[in-house]
Amino acid sequence: MMLASRISLIKPSPTLAITAKANAMKAEGRDVIGFGAGEPDFDTPDNIKQAAIKAIQDGFTKYTPVGGTDELKDAIIEKFKTDNGLTYNRGEIVVSCGAKHSLYNLAQILFEEGDEVLIVSPYWVSYPDIVTLTGGTPVILTTKEEDGFKLRPDQLQAAINKKTKAIIFNSPSNPSGTMYTAEELKALCEIILKTGILVISDDIYEKIIYGDVPFFALPSICPEIKSQAVIVNGVSKAYAMTGWRIGYAAGPGEIIAAVSKIQSQNTSNPTSIAQKASVEAIRGDQSKVGEMVATFKERRDYIVRALNNIPDMSCLNPDGAFYVFPDFSRYYGRVYNGKEIKNSSDMSDFLLDEVNVAVVPGGEFGHDKNIRLSYATSMKNIEEGVRRIADALTRLK
Ligand code: PMP
Ligand code: GLU
Repeated sequence: MMLASRISLIKPSPTLAITAKANAMKAEGRDVIGFGAGEPDFDTPDNIKQAAIKAIQDGFTKYTPVGGTDELKDAIIEKFKTDNGLTYNRGEIVVSCGAKHSLYNLAQILFEEGDEVLIVSPYWVSYPDIVTLTGGTPVILTTKEEDGFKLRPDQLQAAINKKTKAIIFNSPSNPSGTMYTAEELKALCEIILKTGILVISDDIYEKIIYGDVPFFALPSICPEIKSQAVIVNGVSKAYAMTGWRIGYAAGPGEIIAAVSKIQSQNTSNPTSIAQKASVEAIRGDQSKVGEMVATFKERRDYIVRALNNIPDMSCLNPDGAFYVFPDFSRYYGRVYNGKEIKNSSDMSDFLLDEVNVAVVPGGEFGHDKNIRLSYATSMKNIEEGVRRIADALTRLK
């Protein structure tokens, strides 16, 4: 079969691939502990499920407007007002089939050959490929662990040239969990404002934060930036709704209208029933979010301590999201059964083969020294998984 050449430019999502592999191994009866999945292990709260059931019973099962119902857009507008102090109108909001879909559509309507798009590394695995598929060029800005994996203003300034169209920004970050303070955001905003580039801010982990650093949307910190900023968010992470596929983007009307236009030629509207459920998620009782975050925090505290107790391992304490990104590189160069562990991919294979622990190699996020572990799994799994990792590492010589 003759496939279009563009498909050879990208790889399958490694996070989804590793999760699928771990699940397949479990189905075969192997006792796998999965730290791969980037999705909450909690069930979708009941009030949200009930809203979806009611939508079905009421016959709310037809096409909706392409960019989402007015009801859901209004709920999102209220969220921006209450949580972020930002004012948007319906023409500045589009609802898509997940935040990934919003990002994909945004890239399609904004980027083309000759455009450079800045991506902060460690980055979420899909950003570079989403940009590559447009013909644009991803430009990776590598941060340092000693800077908390944060982009420095001088680094941003130095990367911007005439071809630079945009930066994709993500705080709290997947995979590092790092968050920028208000002052740090302000310094980056000043450069974005001065140079006139666009910023796509992926705020999907906004609600999964542990209290040390408050969350600010970029236009809340720097109101003048609003006409250059698109915020992407969704219900997947905050409300344990990964399977429902609802995300959204907020930004200048011209950009949002173009996203709706392209969406009208690919998916049409996001699922009507999931939209009703998302209205309840955003407007309804928020107490379950607090409970989930409190549980994530207990796990974070445990896993960071446990990993730092392993010899030759270092792990930063993340401010948000549900990932840790420890440095395994002091174990590279060591050997097991005649095979040298050379990089994060070898290390991940070793952990899966040797002790049935699934993790995502840091190389997939642009940082080969590190490994990503999602702690969106039970405390029992975390305890056992870290114990197995520590044990496996003692076998390397
Ligand atoms: N951005 C980041 C940083 C993510 O980790 C994810 C996780 N899937 C997404 C976007 C996409 O989320 P979804 O499509 O489920 O809304
Ligand atoms: N965002 C999650 C992760 O990083 C889910 C999988 C994906 O869409 O990449 O694991």
